[in-house]
Amino acid sequence: MTDTNPRPIIGLLSERHDGERRAAIVPADIKRMANRVTFIVERGAGTKSGYSDQAYMEAGAAIVDRTDLKSSSDILLGVRAPIDLSDLPKGKILISLGGRDIDVLDAVLERDIKHLGLERLPRTTRAQAMDVLSSQATVAGYAAVIEGARELDVFLPMLTTAAGSVKPAKMIALGAGVAGLQAIATARRLGAMVHGFDVREAAREQIESLGARFVSLGDALKSQDVANGYAGEQSADQQARLRQALASTLAQMQLIVTSAQIPGRTAPLLIDDAALSSLTPGTVIVDLAAETGGNTSRTKPGETIRFNGVTIIGSVNLPSQMAADASRLFSGNIRALLEYLIPDETGVLLQSEDPIVGPLLGVDAVLRTAA
Ligand code: NAD
Repeated sequence: MTDTNPRPIIGLLSERHDGERRAAIVPADIKRMANRVTFIVERGAGTKSGYSDQAYMEAGAAIVDRTDLKSSSDILLGVRAPIDLSDLPKGKILISLGGRDIDVLDAVLERDIKHLGLERLPRTTRAQAMDVLSSQATVAGYAAVIEGARELDVFLPMLTTAAGSVKPAKMIALGAGVAGLQAIATARRLGAMVHGFDVREAAREQIESLGARFVSLGDALKSQDVANGYAGEQSADQQARLRQALASTLAQMQLIVTSAQIPGRTAPLLIDDAALSSLTPGTVIVDLAAETGGNTSRTKPGETIRFNGVTIIGSVNLPSQMAADASRLFSGNIRALLEYLIPDETGVLLQSEDPIVGPLLGVDAVLRTAA
């Protein structure tokens, strides 16, 4: 079904969440879509990620203030769901993260806003180009190793110098999804001796194909993959045995990047106090699961803490620290989604039966919308 308006107006919101520097769409992608949509951009929306108002104007967008943007746009774009959701005019379409946030869900239902919550994107081949979780996890995995390396007081690569030689550091990624695999690839490039572990059997081949060593703990501790490539949750008993089995491997590592997650659940505890106490002093842990509870017993989101000589970095929103490229990738995903929603000049297609749009909407809604 299509709408009658030939050129939907798409508005880029500036991010208001603390520490959020990314922009949901960058000038290059606006330019590429100029033939089918009209873009308006909130003043300063790209400033923190290195994209000036001037660059957006040169790409063909008009710069407006927030109030005008909210009222004039058919589709609003944000990285995060806007904090002032309650001021959005009823009936708009919003594309942003926040798809697993119950407060956002309540607010959009109340305002009759059609929220395409980006975490709800199905993990299918067709939707891959629109997957912001994957693109941002790629940034996070890279940034985690860089951040960990800066905190370490040893080299990652092997060095041979006139003053003597230096052994390469040992690194392990616990959780080898998109972020973990990128952490493995980055640590390999920096010359560390790299290991990887995941409860999904499919991860073994991916870890080994990057030249890292898969840490095998036996079949009893594997999880069956569930739909969409995500891991299933383990029982408390399995988790306890897993922690015990991992401890001796972890004691040999200098850098540990954890990214083990189960969507919609608290992150599994992989390193408890006992395991932390058996690590070599100087070990650095970068915990990418900090926001969902953390993979260690001492992780504090947004904080770096020391425990028995071990540094634990509770990483929060690492992609925002690399805002230019993180935005570029996020924007590429959004462009793919917009091209899917607006295939030609005839308007926005928003069908709840659609295999991508339906899950993104996430609520029983909307067969068609007026954009
Ligand atoms: P995620 O962020 O939900 O989890 C990260 C990793 O933690 C996963 O690999 C998971 O298996 C692992 N994990 C969970 N519990 C664990 C435990 N107790 N111990 C160790 N590891 C544990 O996952 P993700 O990175 O978003 O994606 C996982 C996989 O999904 C990817 O590797 C990929 O194969 C697949 N994927 C498919 C598509 C697609 O087809 N479009 C897109 C993205 C990802």
